[in-house]
Amino acid sequence: MATLDRRGRPLGSLRISVTDRCNLRCQYCMPEPEYVWLPRTDILAFEEICALADVFTGLGVDRVRLTGGEPLLRTDLPNLIRMLAARPAIRDLALTTNGLLLADQAAALRAAGLPRITVSLDTLRPGRFRELTRIDALDAVLAGLTAAAARFDTLKIDTVVIRGMNDDELLDILEHGRTLGAEVRFIEYMDVGGATRWSLADVVSRDDILRAIAARYGTVEPIDEQTSAPADRFRLADGTTFGIISSTTAPFCSTCDRSRLTADGMWYLCLYALAGTNLRDPLRDGASPAVLRRLIESVWTARDDRGAELRAAAADRRPLIPVETLRQSPHLEMHTRGG
Ligand code: SAM
Ligand code: SF4
Ligand code: SF4
Repeated sequence: MATLDRRGRPLGSLRISVTDRCNLRCQYCMPEPEYVWLPRTDILAFEEICALADVFTGLGVDRVRLTGGEPLLRTDLPNLIRMLAARPAIRDLALTTNGLLLADQAAALRAAGLPRITVSLDTLRPGRFRELTRIDALDAVLAGLTAAAARFDTLKIDTVVIRGMNDDELLDILEHGRTLGAEVRFIEYMDVGGATRWSLADVVSRDDILRAIAARYGTVEPIDEQTSAPADRFRLADGTTFGIISSTTAPFCSTCDRSRLTADGMWYLCLYALAGTNLRDPLRDGASPAVLRRLIESVWTARDDRGAELRAAAADRRPLIPVETLRQSPHLEMHTRGG
């Protein structure tokens, strides 16, 4: 039985962040010189993550995505994947990574039972990669993508598009995806926590992206599908498909069934939510699955969040949260909350 929020949206998909640490410093996510990290003792053990996942699946969650920070930095991640993959209630298990450590780990992740993977890739130019992420590591990411393409049937590439940064590479990235058999999803730059340098002028809209692709490939046909997935998908004349996640200019909150669990067990109902629910403390205090279930159910049934829609309606749009506030409350960061 679905658990519905106040807008009739089911509790369907859970993103689990396994660490707040990252080995890149993407300028749209972690542009600051220093960060405040979650206390190590607060980070959930794999058994704790699975105990919470079981309560969530009991309430209707059937899709789980592991994220971070950079999830491949979490020691023994394949063990967690093995534990989650063994749970039939999780119909769809996926992982989002920046790909830096993927060449070494792709085989182990696949062997542990991970069926599909998404790699974030914003540029194919080494100098630009260094400028965007502060690390000189494009070759490692490309090697990770190649290793993943050889092992995973479903591979996606997520590309955040920023004006003047990589909006001249959309076609190159699409072509690269095509050679790997990966579907590319272009993501509009979002004014989420962590994006302290965000400005509306830097957003390349869904319409701009479609125009650029149509100018090169001709007809772009929308794929008609009824899903709660964030990407609208399109097909080119040669059959190549791609997606656009238009969170900034055309939000899709009305069908959003996603929530997020941080590495230290805070649960957020929306990417833009300023407060979350602490599930770690009741879990560690010995709350039974039934008690946790009642807590999660009561929070979800009261959910009214539609952060991106409210942001889109705001008259004067600036970065969501000032740097000083982020330092006080690292849970508001995108790299803590998981994208
Ligand atoms: N580190 C992993 C990665 O980059 O794939 C997983 C975590 S990261 C927070 C998840 C996704 O969020 C990435 O695809 C990233 O590009 C996206 N993201 C982060 N900040 C963003 C922003 N300001 N606007 C749009 N997407 C963003
Ligand atoms: Fe980049 Fe992902 Fe790290 Fe954020 S968490 S800095 S998006 S690699
Ligand atoms: Fe869902 Fe919040 Fe994103 Fe809207 S802004 S799609 S409610 S996570």
